[in-house]
This record gives sequence, C-alpha cells and structure tokens, in this order.
Amino acid sequence: MVAATALARAENAMNAAGVAALLVGPGADLRYLTGYHALPLERMTLLVARADGRHTLVVPTLERPRASEAGLPSEVELVDTGETDDPFAAAAAALDGVDPTATLGAGDRLWSVFLIGLQDALPRAAWTRASIVTGQLRMRKDAQEVDALRRAGQAIDRVHARVPDMLRAGRTEAEVGRDIADAILDEGHERVNFVIVASGPNGASPHHETGDRTIQPGDAVVVDIGGNLDGYGSDCTRNYLVGEVDTAVTQAHDALEAAQRAACDAARPGATAQSVDAAARDLLVAAGYGEYFVHRTGHGIGLEEHEEPYIVAGNDLVLDPGMAFSVEPGVYLPGRFGLRIEDIVVVTDDGCERLNTLERDAVRL
Ligand code: ZN
Ligand code: ZN
Ligand code: ZN
Repeated sequence: MVAATALARAENAMNAAGVAALLVGPGADLRYLTGYHALPLERMTLLVARADGRHTLVVPTLERPRASEAGLPSEVELVDTGETDDPFAAAAAALDGVDPTATLGAGDRLWSVFLIGLQDALPRAAWTRASIVTGQLRMRKDAQEVDALRRAGQAIDRVHARVPDMLRAGRTEAEVGRDIADAILDEGHERVNFVIVASGPNGASPHHETGDRTIQPGDAVVVDIGGNLDGYGSDCTRNYLVGEVDTAVTQAHDALEAAQRAACDAARPGATAQSVDAAARDLLVAAGYGEYFVHRTGHGIGLEEHEEPYIVAGNDLVLDPGMAFSVEPGVYLPGRFGLRIEDIVVVTDDGCERLNTLERDAVRL
C-alpha cells in the first residue's frame, strides 16, 4: 500500500460522499492513509485529512520523532502540540477555511475523550463515521496489499505445518499454544494476534480461550491462529485428530470440507457476500449440521483482523476484485467437539485466490 495513493483515493471518496475532512486517530485508518503506526496514547494523535487535499497530522511533541521517521506522504503537514497546548485547537486550526457547518468523518476507533473534545472545538460541524469513506477504500486491496496478505498467509501456513511437532496427548492446550505463538513470530510475523487451541469439548466454543485442559487421545483439536506481517493479518484454522476419533467427527469434517470448498467456489466478482455464506450454509443444513453452524461464514481482513466485508446473510454487497476475507464455516456440537476450516481468499478478476494453500483434510496425529 502506498499511503500517498491512499490519501488521493480518500480525497475522491470524501468529495463523492460530501465529507469535508476525516479526523482519524491511531489505528488501521491512520496507517492506511499515512503509513504511520501511531501509539494509542492519552495524548491526542489526529490526522485531519481534507477533501481539498490539505492534510495535517497533529501529534504530541514527544511523538514527533516517531512520526517524522514514519515516512509520511509529503503532502501531510506535521504539527506538534506541547504539554500545555490545546490539541483540539490545533485540530480546529487544521480545518481553517473549511465551512464550519460541513460534515466531518470521525474515525470509528477514535476514543470518545477525543471526539468530545473535537465536538466542543468544532460546535457547528455535522459528524459521520470515517468508515463511510475509509471502509470502501480499505475493502478493495491493491496489489501491494494483496502481496502483504499473501506473505502473511504463507507464513501462517508454515506454522500449521509445524503444529504436528507440538500437539500431542498429554500436553495442555496452553503448552501447545505457547509453542505456536513462538512459531508465529519465527515464521516472520511481527506480532501474534491470537492462538486458539481448543481440544475435545472445548472445540465447541468458537472463540475458546486456550487453557489448561490436557489433550487426550480421541480429541479433535481446533487450531485457529493469526498474526500480523508488515501490518497485514493472517488467520487460518485447521483441525487435528489425536489418535482414533469418533466417526461423528470425521463425518462432520467431511461435510465441513465440502461446505468450505463450495463457499470458496462461490467467491468471485459479481457474487454477493451473502451468497458466499449461503453456499457453505446450504450444504451444512442439508447434511444436518445447520443448527451447529452458529456464526457467519467470514470476515474481511487487512490492517485489522476483522473488517469489511462481512460474509453474512443480509449483506448484499457485490464482491469486487481485491476484496479479501476469510471463509471459515464451523460445526460445534456442545459438550462433544467442534471443527472449523478457515482460509483467507482474495477475489480476482475471474474467481478467487486462496492465500492459504495447506491441505484442508483433518491432520491425523
Ligand atoms: Zn473469530
Ligand atoms: Zn481464525
Ligand atoms: Zn477468521
């Protein structure tokens, strides 16, 4: 992602949406627009990105060195506020010449303490969510962003390939999880985002917190892991079978593989987000698992782990090339076991590319 291009895209999108400026704090929108990975501090860091192309980054004085080293796009003016300065006045000054009643887009993750201060400093402005502008842009990845997601996908695939060395009966979920977290970093991620190791009946909770249960022979173990590589996320789930498992597990896994494949096949330009969800869900319903598939089929991924587009019934968004999201149907039988298969895909001109290319069969240990 080239931040200068992102700002130009944002200017066009602001003009189309009737938004005079975006006011964005630390987080994915700021990183997308400027490349700056700001710290979320009690002192305000705020990008004022204007539809007319005048952009200011207001930072606390002590953060100025980090912001300067971030390689900000040349059209962004850096303004710093000292310990006794009013940062809200600095933000208002960055809107000099903008109609005071114009609509401003506040960052979706901007803390209320900053938004309330800005609203006091800009009392006549109308407010909307910055994501009405940035969500549309961030949803469609450019070639560099797809490349970052692809490298993240390959890195997490390498971690899954090492899981059989770590996971065995007699170890606890937490022990396995610590080894996996180390491997996520070893394989090139700069950050571990999550490690879910859900064994036996714990697998029936989709976001089970990896705990001190000892893995047993006969367990199905859901391993859902992800990290960040060059700012972009990986997220991949595979299922590991320890010794001989109940045939109910292998039957459910067969149905899940078919459902996951059908949803990936349905992901192409012109299809809707909800049709991808339906492709997986219809097969699981037909196989008798409908009531055990308790979540949407997927979520967008990029600078955030979960972002638009959401692959869910009711979302009639039409898929475009460059949209990246998870395809992760699951089957959860309370008290017994759970299974989930998850790959990240990116929509191409004529279908989709899977960014995780490991076998989807359950891995027998
Ligand atoms: Zn999740
Ligand atoms: Zn996941
Ligand atoms: Zn996911």
